[in-house]
Amino acid sequence: MSELIRKDASELSGLLESREVSAVEVAQAHLDRIADVDGAVRAFLHVDTEGALNAAKNVDAKRAAGEKLGALAGVPLGLKDILATKGLPTTVGSKMLENWIPPYDATVVTRMREAGIVILGKTNMDEFAMGSSTEHSAFGPTHNPWDLERIPGGSGGGSSACLAAFEAPLAIGTDTGGSIRQPAAVTGTVGVKPTYGGVSRYGAVALASSLDQIGPCGRTVLDTALLHEVIAGFDSMDQTSINAPVPAVVEAAKRGDIKGMKIGVVRELGGEGYQAGVRQRFDEAVVVLQSLGAEIVEVSCPSFDYALAAYYLILPSECSSNLAKFDGIRFGLRVGDDGSRSVEQVMSQTRAEGFGDEVIRRIMLGTYALSAGYYDAYYGQAQKIRTLIAQDFAKAFSQVDVLISPTAPTTAFKIGEKLDDPLAMYLNDVATIPVNLAGLPGMSLPIGLAPEDNLPVGLQIMAPAMADDRLYNVGAALERALVAQWGAPILSSMAGV
Ligand code: GLN
Repeated sequence: MSELIRKDASELSGLLESREVSAVEVAQAHLDRIADVDGAVRAFLHVDTEGALNAAKNVDAKRAAGEKLGALAGVPLGLKDILATKGLPTTVGSKMLENWIPPYDATVVTRMREAGIVILGKTNMDEFAMGSSTEHSAFGPTHNPWDLERIPGGSGGGSSACLAAFEAPLAIGTDTGGSIRQPAAVTGTVGVKPTYGGVSRYGAVALASSLDQIGPCGRTVLDTALLHEVIAGFDSMDQTSINAPVPAVVEAAKRGDIKGMKIGVVRELGGEGYQAGVRQRFDEAVVVLQSLGAEIVEVSCPSFDYALAAYYLILPSECSSNLAKFDGIRFGLRVGDDGSRSVEQVMSQTRAEGFGDEVIRRIMLGTYALSAGYYDAYYGQAQKIRTLIAQDFAKAFSQVDVLISPTAPTTAFKIGEKLDDPLAMYLNDVATIPVNLAGLPGMSLPIGLAPEDNLPVGLQIMAPAMADDRLYNVGAALERALVAQWGAPILSSMAGV
């Protein structure tokens, strides 16, 4: 096993820049690692060996020619299979798009290619990004590298698992209700959901358009910031894209100074229903933040109690409409079209066979919530809750600089454990959903292992819109203190693969 796979993106960046290693060597080391362990982890749906090696060769040639390259040129990455990649399959974890080869790249993909990032392949995910465990993928579950019998979180479990298994030092996820942050929490990695509109979504298959956001994943806060800087910024191809300078995330990740900052602990997140070991590590992290000079205050956001219920009306409503285009006629799979059957019959058979149970459940919930006579009682009511949640955040941020909570209520659960209980699955998102509903940025970073099961626990940081840099500043300070305490990064003690 090559030592290169143990290196963080920023370490690799240094080695590549000084030409101690070539991008091809780095790519090959990670491809070898994937060949060794991905049969067990199953983080990747598609490995693009040829494309990765070509991209790496390109970077090496440019460097040899003396071209000035970005910090991440030659660093490998796993890409969630929800982002369009020209010439490469993009399945969204669904049979519906199993054979789709997009004719274009998503904006973030274009930006990463221009920065010289080497895309190793496409990572597994819950079908259409609905889920918290990656078990809803039409292509089988991904396994958590800490314990292969457990889930790696979801929907972006392939992206978090590829980091934790040292198959890639960077990954891209999408976060509509926690799909970057909860997988980060249960795999001991870092993940950020940027401010809504901070990263272009052009080329991302839409789940719930008022909530979806693409974001960076890494094994350290600084690595995640370096990737954030590459993908963020205005894009005229996305009408929700914010035309303003990207927050100084890399500078903040290098600073990590929280002396005099006010940090709010959200009273409504982290009490009943949270695993004891998760609460214990969270409380200890609060003490660490205090010892670094932050002032800790308790803050109440009473409407957060209704966030989960509101989200599970808004998300199904929006996805029922977004997924209407997969009708067996215009896009993707077509089943049962033998020339004798009506358009309606073909549509209905295609959707019944092309979508998995969770997707069908949400489409049914969504069409119900939007139907005449129920619209005001469900969708309308949920939108009102959304306003109240935004108001709770605004009030809280008039008192504190950032808010914190545990990221997920439990550590990684066993594969199969919650598969037959949708409500138990949805409860994973209880702490991650509020920022999506309000369009704010959030980060999860590892804060240790729960004493009862030795599995990673994540802490969530939340900030006002376009103050993504605060996440990185606080995250870097906490990470530095914890790594000093542990004597090594959390993943070096990984038991799994
Ligand atoms: N667990 C959430 C859900 O199932 C997360 C979705 C997401 O962020 N893509 O809806």
